[in-house]
Amino acid sequence: MAVTPICEGSLEAPTRHPLAWQTAAFHDPHALAAELERVFEICHGCRRCVNLCQAFPTLFDLVDAAETLEVDGVAKADYGKVVDQCYLCDLCYMTKCPYVPPHEWNLDFPHLMLRAKAVKFRQGQTRLRDRVLSRTDAVGTLAGIPVVNAVVNATRTNALGRKVIANLLGIHPDATLPAYSSRPFRTRERGRIRHAAAGQAAGPTTGRVALFTTCYGNYNEPELNADLIAVFEHSALVVTLPASEQCCGMPRMELGDLAAVKAARDANIPILKGLVDAGWDIVAVVPSCVLMFKQVLPLMFPEDDEVHAVKARIFDPFEYLLLRHRQGLLATDFKQSLGTVVYQASCHQRVQNIGQKTREVLALVPNTTVEIIERCSGHDGTYAVKQEFHDAAMKIARPVAKRVEQAAPDHFGSDCPMAGAHIAHALGRDGQQKHPLSLLRMAYGIDTHPQGASPCR
Ligand code: SF4
Ligand code: SF4
Repeated sequence: MAVTPICEGSLEAPTRHPLAWQTAAFHDPHALAAELERVFEICHGCRRCVNLCQAFPTLFDLVDAAETLEVDGVAKADYGKVVDQCYLCDLCYMTKCPYVPPHEWNLDFPHLMLRAKAVKFRQGQTRLRDRVLSRTDAVGTLAGIPVVNAVVNATRTNALGRKVIANLLGIHPDATLPAYSSRPFRTRERGRIRHAAAGQAAGPTTGRVALFTTCYGNYNEPELNADLIAVFEHSALVVTLPASEQCCGMPRMELGDLAAVKAARDANIPILKGLVDAGWDIVAVVPSCVLMFKQVLPLMFPEDDEVHAVKARIFDPFEYLLLRHRQGLLATDFKQSLGTVVYQASCHQRVQNIGQKTREVLALVPNTTVEIIERCSGHDGTYAVKQEFHDAAMKIARPVAKRVEQAAPDHFGSDCPMAGAHIAHALGRDGQQKHPLSLLRMAYGIDTHPQGASPCR
């Protein structure tokens, strides 16, 4: 009788199953515990991901301390310790795991962690601090009110204020916190909401771009969106803003609040789909927000035509610029070189599977050398600012900071502005990071912000 062997790793291209979050089984705590045990057993036998994040070392430490030295000796109550360390970067699934579908073991570690977070959220076990931090648009709106804004910005850099925040909210006193602008980007650029302008279509691009400003780009670092617009307009691209916009839902997803992700979908997708129908492509400066529309929502709503229409037309900014370059439509009249640039390719950009588009575009600047660091920065949404995770976040950031130090570059940063700030913090060089879009603006010699104008620099 022929026996079909179990492959040590799939030889086929990985696929990802939709997230069955609307089924009862998904939220069943007993079914979840059984699946966690099954997957933890496979991971214990494999251990490839031990250096990716703190979730795997936490699991392996629990197993190694168990009486049986196996997963069956780990208390189920301790499974949550592993789950809490996962910030859903997707790297284990996308870059390491040989057992992802179509392999018969059907292992999707990040989706399992998300399921565990969703069960915890439904059981009401999520901390108030975490709920507050995940309301990025509400916090940004509140912090943008002038009087509140002055207090918030003064408190975040004041030792006594940081102690109060640490005690009240469980935010680590040494974590770097972003400033809040009293003039959010969408307020400044209200006049840009115009939907009739023409652009030059070429290849897969329409030449008309709607900028999803993101919470961070709207409230914390508006200059980043200004840099994107300056760079895009320099190549004759037409840029508009969606008529309205809410947080993409990523921070709420990281908490397991999937109903809030659906609410974010309901607020954003009809507006973005309307823009797509009118011939606009979509970009966003924060890779996590692009990923939300490119991968997360399509897996949560596999039958949703509107979601898939938006997925087909949303781009990473450098992916878009390179598509234009291939059609001969990217301006290359650079005025200054950038020297040596070292930047961290953020996890949520890497898992978009678009290749090293940022490097390719920056490398077009004459006399410029670009080095990429493909390691996690440790920032990971709100992970680095939380009291209990900050030390782990700094430990993860250290090898990245070391690589930057060794290269002694003229500029360093990340595609993710928050990761860039975290790396600068690990280097003891807060505020010195430069986003690749800001570097490109500099290379073009387009008037840059007056010294010190950015709240984050
Ligand atoms: S998704 Fe990222 S943080 Fe979560 S377990 Fe995998 S590598 Fe670690
Ligand atoms: S997620 Fe996959 S590669 Fe990583 S430890 Fe588990 S089985 Fe191994």
